[in-house]
Amino acid sequence: MRFGIIGGGVTGLVAGYYLSKRGYDVTIFEAEDEVGGLLGSYHINRGDKTYHIERFYHHIFRGDAELIELIEELGLSGSLEWRKGSTGYHVNGEIYPLTTPGEILRFPHLTLLDKIRLAALVLRSKIGSFEDLDNKRARDLIERIGGKGVHRNFFEPLLRSKFGDERDEVSAAWLFGRISIRSDRSIEGEHLGYMRGGFQLLVDALKEHILDQGGVIHTGEPVTQILIENGRVSGIESTKETYHFDNVISTVSPDALNRISGIDCRDVPYQGACCALFGLRRSLMDGIYWLNIAEDLPFGALIEHTNFVPSRWYGGENLLYVASYFQNIEDPRWKLDEKDVIGVFIRGIKKLFPDFDEGDVNWWQLTRTPDAGPIYKVGFKDLILPYRTEIDGLCIAGMFSRANYPERSINGSVIAGKSCVDLFFS
Ligand SMILES: Cc1cc2nc3c(=O)[nH]c(=O)nc-3n(C[C@H](O)[C@H](O)[C@H](O)COP(=O)(O)OP(=O)(O)OC[C@H]3O[C@@H](n4cnc5c(N)ncnc54)[C@H](O)[C@@H]3O)c2cc1C
Repeated sequence: MRFGIIGGGVTGLVAGYYLSKRGYDVTIFEAEDEVGGLLGSYHINRGDKTYHIERFYHHIFRGDAELIELIEELGLSGSLEWRKGSTGYHVNGEIYPLTTPGEILRFPHLTLLDKIRLAALVLRSKIGSFEDLDNKRARDLIERIGGKGVHRNFFEPLLRSKFGDERDEVSAAWLFGRISIRSDRSIEGEHLGYMRGGFQLLVDALKEHILDQGGVIHTGEPVTQILIENGRVSGIESTKETYHFDNVISTVSPDALNRISGIDCRDVPYQGACCALFGLRRSLMDGIYWLNIAEDLPFGALIEHTNFVPSRWYGGENLLYVASYFQNIEDPRWKLDEKDVIGVFIRGIKKLFPDFDEGDVNWWQLTRTPDAGPIYKVGFKDLILPYRTEIDGLCIAGMFSRANYPERSINGSVIAGKSCVDLFFS
């Protein structure tokens, strides 16, 4: 049986890995020049130092069981490290570390009662199923359990930075999913996983396995049409050629799938991401890895990667991500030239850190995508797309699949890719 896979992100690579492990003939098509999708990396060459660093900041959680198992299976567990992820909140010109319980207790923008109600909200997120909350708004639940102060002074800026104008429509299922995934904490903070050498190790290992098993990967070759004859898939057409397959797995966004298949799949709302990475001469955030920002700026968080893993892995440079999401392709972060976006971000960083200077920047990179992930609005559960489609031999998996509800993740895409393959043999 010949399988064609559309998309070389985690879902497509994982599907290709499990199919080639079973001895099937696999061909992957990736529109970009490299596989990896949202988990792709820059290859940086600086003097005598070369390394990979993710285009979008990534870490994993202890609960990511299927991903951790896959890392083990690929012989990469020695590279997986669990590290302390420190967090902070920038409010009204001040940075407040929020890593330890003591720091949270000292946070001046919540009253003691707010903090007790915030703790109640966290506890509530550990009880019951998220799916029961799919029809409730996150905002309403926060205000009911946590109170208006907790919403206004803690969650509202976070929701704004993640979902912009859509923030009030986001479901409580998403919120509770997020809170509970983030609760592997000890007294000194949260434990997060990262691979020494970057997640490129995972991407490379999957790719090499597929190639070793005789699979083929076409990069820089977008699929333009899924070919369907009498209700059955017969192959794909790319920008270069026509290929015949017995089965096809598509891992692209629902919007892209509509365009290349004509299948009218449910309209799953997605948002875009615009993320800059700066190589800095000096550290900016005083030991904080993840700084959420309450101020209204064109980005919602600054992430100093080298306050999470050592800067010596990167030749002593400090790596800082500027994280922002957009919900509309008219947004300047999508439309402006790269240099202009970087200018906007630098001005924003200066507002928060007045002593920050352009001279601190050794280099920068920018990655933007309109398909950064679903917007988990109220009622999203009904929009989840099943793996099987109405077309025989065509399955779909990705960030829109059940495995990625109520939040998308690398782990969710590992499960989605594997589940989709299992379906062909059930
Ligand atoms: C800013 C950001 C931060 C994140 N941080 C984390 C994190 O810390 N931890 C975590 O677990 N997850 C994180 N994620 C989520 C994680 O990256 C994704 O869930 C996962 O990588 C999605 O993989 P995928 O294969 O399903 O989709 P994608 O990576 O989107 O792969 C789809 C692929 O299809 C390709 N494609 C599209 N159209 C075509 C076509 N016509 N023909 C051929 N190819 C096509 C695309 O180029 C892409 O490579 C983050 C995501 C973002 C955006």
